[in-house]
Amino acid sequence: MESTSYVISADRLWDGTGTAPVLRPVVKVAGANIEAVQPSLLPPATCSGAVVDFPGCTILPGLIDTHVHLVLSALPTNAEIIDLVGRESDDALTVRALANARAALHAGITTVRDCGGKGRIVQQVRDRIRRGEAEGADILSGGVPITTTRGHCCWLGLIADTHDEVRRAAQRMLDEGVDFLKVMATGGNMTPSSDPMRAQYDPEALKIIADMGRAAGMHAAAHVLSRSALPGAVAARFRTIEHCDWRIEENRYEFDPALARRMIAQDQYVGLTMSATTRRRFMPEIARDPSGPVRRLDIRFACERQMIEAGIKFTLHSDAGVRMTPIDTLAVGLQAAAVELQLTPDEVLRAVTATPAEAIGLPDRGVVAAGKRADLIVVEGNPLQDLASLQRVRAVMKAGMWVKR
Ligand SMILES: [Zn+2]
Repeated sequence: MESTSYVISADRLWDGTGTAPVLRPVVKVAGANIEAVQPSLLPPATCSGAVVDFPGCTILPGLIDTHVHLVLSALPTNAEIIDLVGRESDDALTVRALANARAALHAGITTVRDCGGKGRIVQQVRDRIRRGEAEGADILSGGVPITTTRGHCCWLGLIADTHDEVRRAAQRMLDEGVDFLKVMATGGNMTPSSDPMRAQYDPEALKIIADMGRAAGMHAAAHVLSRSALPGAVAARFRTIEHCDWRIEENRYEFDPALARRMIAQDQYVGLTMSATTRRRFMPEIARDPSGPVRRLDIRFACERQMIEAGIKFTLHSDAGVRMTPIDTLAVGLQAAAVELQLTPDEVLRAVTATPAEAIGLPDRGVVAAGKRADLIVVEGNPLQDLASLQRVRAVMKAGMWVKR
């Protein structure tokens, strides 16, 4: 990797600020930051730094995936994934987390937020990348998610049932150097001993966690797979609500406009999950395997569309590491989101750049503008016409350094 100044140009720039794409843009990078964005190439005499042109390509902000699991293996079944993460040594899990962080970066994802690791592995991998000892996406780590005895992801090892235990678990994560707190507010599909339809905590326990995060200057994220825990997660003002399923029965969703208005007023974000189970139009093996989450997709997407139309701010994430969801396949999930949630390419791109930067507190990135960190990707073609272009990443720059070119 090299850091110096660059003048980068391509056919177009989508900068994430909500303005129309810039044709024949010039992005000037000095050190780790973007110095200027200009509409056209300067006379060569005024150019300082190496000029790099990408004909036929589009420059975008580095992508931000707000929900991944670096230690998980994306094997075909949940049972295999849980078995492996339970059996493997910390060294083996570290190797996987490093490989995943690197694969993410090469796929154009310059920042990931890890929503469930084991021990301190994700923080250690984060720090190695930060120190320049390993190549990978920037990582925000939630450490180990807080859950109940036999609750969702209890196999990751941070159990808390009573309010005191919840307080101690959150404090342990803060002591272990996390960047945010994560709680499993309901059961989850991956953990057979848990029930996605039931709240794992009362509203007071959720409030303890969100308040401790705020007191430490951090945000908190709540996993919510049914309406049972949603009012509590809203009352506690979790910054992000992961999955945000409004299910009231196994196959019945009920959107509540009043609750949605409160989420908007409180500046809460929902993270919509585009893991492999949602990629039915792009993965024939999913269409052939009608598990519960796949059978429910039509009603799930209809409810998510209601959230979007109500004006709730949303990010799109991969939940990478869960079954059949390798971290470098986010682009397929984004293509699925465009089709299933009737989003324009512009809306999809904002949900993995500018919006997540706001949601998870990273004001230095998410858009291409002067003063921001130089996290850039260059893709072949025009993603505003065809999101598949995100699968053809030609170059990646993180904090002013080329990772791939
Ligand atoms: Zn997850």
